Amino acid sequence: MSRSPILQPARIAPLAVLPVFYRLSGKPVLVIGATPGAVWKAELLASTGAHVTVIAPQADASLVELCAREGVHLNHLARAWSESDLTGAALIVADVADDQEAQRLALLARKAGTPVNIIDRPDFCDFQFGSIVNRSPLVVGISTDGAVPVFGQAIRARIEMLLPAGFQKWAEAARNWRPLVQARGLSLHARRAVWDRFVAAAFRKPDHAPDEEDRIALLASIEEQARAPGQGSVTLVGAGPGDPELLTLKAVRALQAADVILHDDLVSPEVLDFARREAERIITGKRGHRPSCKQDDINALMVTLAREGKRVVRLKGGDPLVFGRAGEEIAACRAGGVPVEVIPGVTAASGAAASLGVSLTHRDHARRLQYITAHAKNGKLPDDLDWKALADPSATTAIYMGKLVVDEVSSNLLAAGIASDTPAIIVEYATYSRERRFHTTIAAMASVFAANDLDGPCIILFGWAMSEAAP
Ligand code: SAH
Repeated sequence: MSRSPILQPARIAPLAVLPVFYRLSGKPVLVIGATPGAVWKAELLASTGAHVTVIAPQADASLVELCAREGVHLNHLARAWSESDLTGAALIVADVADDQEAQRLALLARKAGTPVNIIDRPDFCDFQFGSIVNRSPLVVGISTDGAVPVFGQAIRARIEMLLPAGFQKWAEAARNWRPLVQARGLSLHARRAVWDRFVAAAFRKPDHAPDEEDRIALLASIEEQARAPGQGSVTLVGAGPGDPELLTLKAVRALQAADVILHDDLVSPEVLDFARREAERIITGKRGHRPSCKQDDINALMVTLAREGKRVVRLKGGDPLVFGRAGEEIAACRAGGVPVEVIPGVTAASGAAASLGVSLTHRDHARRLQYITAHAKNGKLPDDLDWKALADPSATTAIYMGKLVVDEVSSNLLAAGIASDTPAIIVEYATYSRERRFHTTIAAMASVFAANDLDGPCIILFGWAMSEAAP
């Protein structure tokens, strides 16, 4: 199948540093100096099972205590360092007196081929220590590349709160049970399906240490996958109007589990940041009034990918079931025998109303809420809109895709008898940081579009309930 209308964007923005997780158990590492900073680094390094040598003319009490601690491989050499100390170490960490010593050490370490970190002298460091959240074997490292370590620490505190302590037990259990999964010779997809189940269980009961029952459940899902290996699927996921915080937890989970993500260009990059990095991303570029991918191509592509066994996420702006052509996509999946699921999202009208702090169904003003599209199959204003219903003074109406036909909408409403001063609010880029709101009326709304460069997606809300919106 041709994929010509489809673009391949970069999967990751530039990175200041590469976070890697380095196994040090049993490896020699060198710490130069016995300042409190150096002793802390020695303790940190020793916690990985590294064999730490501290070279410093003097040892303070905390270093002596550390050397004596059970299970810690640490010895102290009470002398100054020299070049020959640097060979053979996996890493070197040092606290030195001045830039001159730092420079000498950094040069010699590089000559010896050993990465070095000199405490509080970033110019001489090959690597940095981030802030750590420890649920080992689950480990989170946070870096700001030295820009603002305090920020990193604050984020660490947040993650500490968010990450249940029990996840340590789940990660440990996964490590112990991994051979069970590997032994069964499952495909990559089937293995992923097994681990997805395991992770779902961890999220369901984070504070319960996995036990025999959980091991049995894991074995059962291994057997299930062995019988009916990883069938592909399609999930239509609502991305919400723009603000990534409006994603549902379920949407984030689906994004994290996806093999392929097909998304409109209406989906914000911040939302895509939640997707699994390895997932292939395909922009389907469907946006009214612009060159785009044909709906039939999208349907066919979704079904083909799912039949290859992939977990396909069809990520759609707002709620997938509101003016998203989800009906056709669901029908194509059903016709193709591919399981399809829908995860709802916050629709643009709800996002805009929230920004305005207004109830769409305010009891004093509205008995009915109606969503309409001003964009028919042929791109023009649909000719079967019920103008009488739209002119009803006790209704609130949200117009999707109304930008290009606002003139006609306004005159049709006036002809149907709506009061010309009925409040209308245009919200561009609802819930994005660059959101703009324009308070107007049915009679004047076309002039707002004419006077302002409204390039982004716009939703129009009108009806007397809008008189309650904050200015
Ligand atoms: N399924 C989407 C609607 C898709 S139709 C939803 O539930 O929101 C696309 C139209 O939705 C756009 O033309 C615009 O009218 C509206 N829209 C989507 N996101 C928007 C946003 N952030 N701000 C304003 N309007 C938006």
